[in-house]
Amino acid sequence: MERTIIKDTLNRPLHDLRISVIDRCNFRCQYCMPADKFGDDFAFLPKTALLTYEEIERIAKVFVGLGVEKIRLTGGEPLLRKDLPILVEKLSQLEGLKDIGLTTNGVLLADLAVELKNAGLKRVNVSLDSLDDELFGRINGRKVSTKPILNGIEAARQAGLGVKINMVVKKGMNDSEILPMAEFCKNNGLQLRFIEFMDVGSTNGWKMDDVITKKQIYEMLKDRYDLEAVEPSYFGEVAKVYRYKDTNAEVGFISSVSESFCSSCTRARLSANGQIFTCLFNGNGHDIRNMMRNGATDEQIAEKITGIWNGRTDRYSDERLAETNTNRKKIEMSYIGG
Ligand code: SAM
Ligand code: SF4
Ligand code: SF4
Repeated sequence: MERTIIKDTLNRPLHDLRISVIDRCNFRCQYCMPADKFGDDFAFLPKTALLTYEEIERIAKVFVGLGVEKIRLTGGEPLLRKDLPILVEKLSQLEGLKDIGLTTNGVLLADLAVELKNAGLKRVNVSLDSLDDELFGRINGRKVSTKPILNGIEAARQAGLGVKINMVVKKGMNDSEILPMAEFCKNNGLQLRFIEFMDVGSTNGWKMDDVITKKQIYEMLKDRYDLEAVEPSYFGEVAKVYRYKDTNAEVGFISSVSESFCSSCTRARLSANGQIFTCLFNGNGHDIRNMMRNGATDEQIAEKITGIWNGRTDRYSDERLAETNTNRKKIEMSYIGG
């Protein structure tokens, strides 16, 4: 297939695509969809607003033609979308696509891991913010214990999927779990990625004071372990990775707040209702769904995406560090996925 590499105003190529397949979730994580703001009557998208699998496949194909090599499915909680393996199978057949991953809270993973792997999924990132059942239940806002998540992680490994663990760290919420999680993941051969609490959306009450930085976590780990830096495996790798010396075990950091990485951000996001976002913090989506439903051709969609990417100027996290221009309309994480 013919592929064009397109670049934005800062010379960043379009390389990966996050697709949110659903905006609903079975959790109400304090830092993402706090229960008091996302109540039982919250107006999630109606089914007809969601892109169908055929529509997602079609848009993804255009993206792959424009240089995308990696796709990650997310949400909301992507495993709540019915028959997700069918979508994975469609995407895995796209010529030129090298990697398909999934980010999930893991609750439904144990039942779906084998089917997802057989459909062509390569890796899963499972979110787990604590090993303590009581604390975890409070963080996820649904009193769900760690058991289904740990079962999901094990099932994914057994199925042959690559597994990484995502832990959002927020001061006063789960800083006590930093070392237990590191030890658990190290002992179980799982790469843990510490994620700095980010100011996505406008419902999670973010304050800079709540952020525990990469440096602070790194210092805690260094008191206990010998760590050596691992070279990034590709341009645009988001996590900074370290190896526990003399082992194969690794630990990563996603330091979006304290050490931003906008200059190598090569990611576009497609929301569940078919809007393209060029930055987690850019609230202006570009509609593709209606364009497609109104009969646009693949060429017209490619042209639209090219125009959007060519005009991209986003570097919100760099700007946040410089403390300028941060009062903008922001989109919720659950809407476009992490
Ligand atoms: N529901 C799935 C999950 O939790 O893995 C996928 C969607 S979730 C929005 C994707 C990732 O974003 C998760 O790892 C989650 O922990 C992370 N996340 C959500 N809100 C965040 C925030 N305010 N700061 C940093 N990471 C956040
Ligand atoms: Fe749901 Fe994931 Fe957000 Fe938690 S982080 S509320 S599991 S979408
Ligand atoms: Fe990419 Fe926007 Fe995050 Fe910067 S702030 S790394 S441009 S998503």
